[in-house]
Amino acid sequence: MSTTPPPSSSSTSSAQSLSARSVSGQSVSAGPGGLRLPVTAPNAEAEVVELCSELLRFESVNWGDGNGRERPAAEYVASRLAEVGIEPTILESEPGRTSVIARIEGADSSRAPLLIHSHLDVVPADASQWRVGPFSGEELDGCLWGRGAVDMLDMVAMTLATVRDLVRSGRKPSRDLVVAFLADEEAGGVLGARWLVDNHPQHVADCTEAIGEVGGFSYTVSDDLRLYLIETAEKGLAWMKLTATGRAGHGSMISDDNAVTALCDAVARLGRHEFPLVLTDTVRRFLGELGDAIGMQFDLDDLDATVAKLGPVARMIGATLRNTVNPTQLAAGEKVNVIPGEAVAYVDGRYLPGQRDEFLRQLDEILGPDIRREWVVLDDAVETSFDGPLVDAMAGALRAEDPIARPVPYMLSGGTDAKSFSRLGIRCFGFSPLLLPADLDFSGMFHGVDERVPLESLRFGVRVLDRFLHAC
Ligand SMILES: [Zn+2]
Repeated sequence: MSTTPPPSSSSTSSAQSLSARSVSGQSVSAGPGGLRLPVTAPNAEAEVVELCSELLRFESVNWGDGNGRERPAAEYVASRLAEVGIEPTILESEPGRTSVIARIEGADSSRAPLLIHSHLDVVPADASQWRVGPFSGEELDGCLWGRGAVDMLDMVAMTLATVRDLVRSGRKPSRDLVVAFLADEEAGGVLGARWLVDNHPQHVADCTEAIGEVGGFSYTVSDDLRLYLIETAEKGLAWMKLTATGRAGHGSMISDDNAVTALCDAVARLGRHEFPLVLTDTVRRFLGELGDAIGMQFDLDDLDATVAKLGPVARMIGATLRNTVNPTQLAAGEKVNVIPGEAVAYVDGRYLPGQRDEFLRQLDEILGPDIRREWVVLDDAVETSFDGPLVDAMAGALRAEDPIARPVPYMLSGGTDAKSFSRLGIRCFGFSPLLLPADLDFSGMFHGVDERVPLESLRFGVRVLDRFLHAC
C-alpha cells in the first residue's frame, strides 16, 4: 500500500481538522426547495468537493488498447482510505493499471456484503474545446469541471467521503461493505473489473448486491415531481468485424465479384434494418412510470410514435426498445484502380436482455452466407427486478433528501462494470445519487465537452449514500 501525497498540500491538514470535528445530529442544511433537513453526513459533505476536485487532476486517461494510467489516482484513493484506518488492497493487472479494494465492517457481518464499485479511468479530452482545463478540477458557476466529473470520479469522491465519515464517526453501515475503485472501465474493464472477476474473485464473490454508475440521477418533471432513474438493466454488447472477400483485379475490368460492393450491400442492409420491438420488464415498468409522471399514455401498438414525442431523451429510450446496430468503421483497398480482394467493416451491435440468441439469428439472416462475422467484443446483457429491501433502501434515502423524489427503474443502452460483477451472480444496480438542476444536459456530460458536476449535487449524493448505507 502506498502513501503517495495527494496533489493538493492543503488536503491533509483539512482532513485532519475535519476528523477532529464532532458529528452533530442537530445541524441542518438547506435541502431541495429550501427545506431544512437534518444533516446526515456533515464531514462527508464538507470534504466531497475537495476529494472530487483532487481526483479530477490525475489525468487517469484510458486511451484503449491497454493504454492507461490509473496508478496515481489509485494510490491517492488508497491513501485516503488508509488515513481513516480502512485497509486498502492494491491490485495491478498490468503495470500502472491499478485498482483498489477495501472492506468496511458493518453492524451485521453475518449478512452478505454490499459492493460499491466505481472506476478511476476517464476518456480522453481535447483541451482546446473546453472552457476550463479538462484536468484542472476547477470550480466555476457552482460546478466542478473536468473529465470524469460525472463519469465517474464524482461517485469515487462520494464513496470515499461517505465511508471515511462513517469510519471516523464510528457509525457502522447496516452490513459489511466492499468498496472497489477500478481500472479500465472505459475499455470494457478488461484490465479492471473483468480481470478482477476472472483472476481474484475472492475479493467480491461473497457480495450479493452491488451499486455502481449511471443511475440514481434526477429528471425533473415538474415543481412537485422528480424522477430518479435507477439502472436495473443494461443492453448486451456485440461489437463485430464483418469481412467480404472477392476477386482482386484491375479497376478497368468488368467485376462481378467485388468485395467492396458486397460489403457495402451487407453493411447498408444491416444499418437500415429496424429490429422488432421487444419490451423487457424494466422498460415496460419505466414507460408506465414515465407515462404516469408526465400524464401521457404510451400506446404499446405505436410505441415509436409516442416515444418520439419525448424530445431529446427519445434516442436514449428508443435504444432500449429493440436490438440495434450501427456500422462505425470501414476499410478496403489501397489505390483507386485496384479492386481489393477483401473489404472490412466494424459494427456496434447492442442486444436486449434475453435476446442474445435471437439477435445472432437476426444478424445472420440480414448478412447472408457470404459475409464473415467475427466478434470483437461479445458481452452480457444484464437485468434485475426493481424490488426488495435494497431498492426500498435506495428509494427511502432519496425521498428523505428530496421529498418530491420518485425512484423508477430504467435500462441503460450502454454498458458498465456491472456486466462483470453480474457474472458472479451479484444483483447490480446503477445508483450514484445526484439531484441535478433541471436545465443541465446530464446525458450530454458523459464523454462530452465541458463535463461538470454541480457542487450541491455532490453534497446531496453523500447525504443520500449515508442514509442508504444505514438502511441497506
Ligand atoms: Zn463510467
